[in-house]
Amino acid sequence: MLIAGNWKMNTDRQRAVSLARDVLEHVGDSDSDVLVAICPPFVNLEAVSSVVSGSAVRLGAQNVHHAESGAFTGEVSVPMLQGVGCHYAIVGHSERRQYFCETDETVNEKVKACVDSRLVPIVCVGESLSEREENKQEEVVTRQVRKALSGVDLPDAASLVVAYEPVWAIGTGRTATPEQAQEVHALIRGLLVQSFGETIGKAINILYGGSMNPGNAEELLAQTDVDGGLIGGASLKPDQFAAIVESARNQAAIN
Ligand code: PEP
Repeated sequence: MLIAGNWKMNTDRQRAVSLARDVLEHVGDSDSDVLVAICPPFVNLEAVSSVVSGSAVRLGAQNVHHAESGAFTGEVSVPMLQGVGCHYAIVGHSERRQYFCETDETVNEKVKACVDSRLVPIVCVGESLSEREENKQEEVVTRQVRKALSGVDLPDAASLVVAYEPVWAIGTGRTATPEQAQEVHALIRGLLVQSFGETIGKAINILYGGSMNPGNAEELLAQTDVDGGLIGGASLKPDQFAAIVESARNQAAIN
């Protein structure tokens, strides 16, 4: 299981450091069954890295560019992220798709750049509200997963993480029901098994994201194919984030 906090465009340097310290304090010792990651804004990665380095809390970025270096003003590459201690990069978050013109093709380039260099991409997929209302979630998520992972082969695929984030549930307080989440997670699991075989397909973590909080985490994390959470709003509140991690630990102990 993996619980990852996406801080989005929040926290100045001072707040990022104190939040990281709080997370460390609340989340406590390592638990090999539940990995924990926090993803601050680019400019605070280095400062947060020095707080979490040597601990069980891993560092992630919220985005990455596919090229190693070059004339891409404003962008940050995989080696740059690894240089400040990143283990993960969120790729294709719906806010990036919606506001920054990211497409299935650019997401695919980023995913390939990450896995080629062993930076773990947290690949986000999910349907919009109108697509859900038209019952198109299966079609949309199937397309997004297939395109995002096109050209990714074994053994690299083993290090992928996929996050199902229905757009209508992100930051809205409207969570998918456990059944709705499981239905799409099972679909994604099937696609992963089809592409990478039973062993790897079943081992890839599929996170749920969209208004996950301490009140709904337990039920969501109890679903067969829900292997963790990508947490936005609640990741800015250390006690709430820790309570979600605790639910994941309880669930991992049952499994
Ligand atoms: C997210 O941004 O990935 C997310 C899931 O946000 P929230 O938890 O606030 O819905």
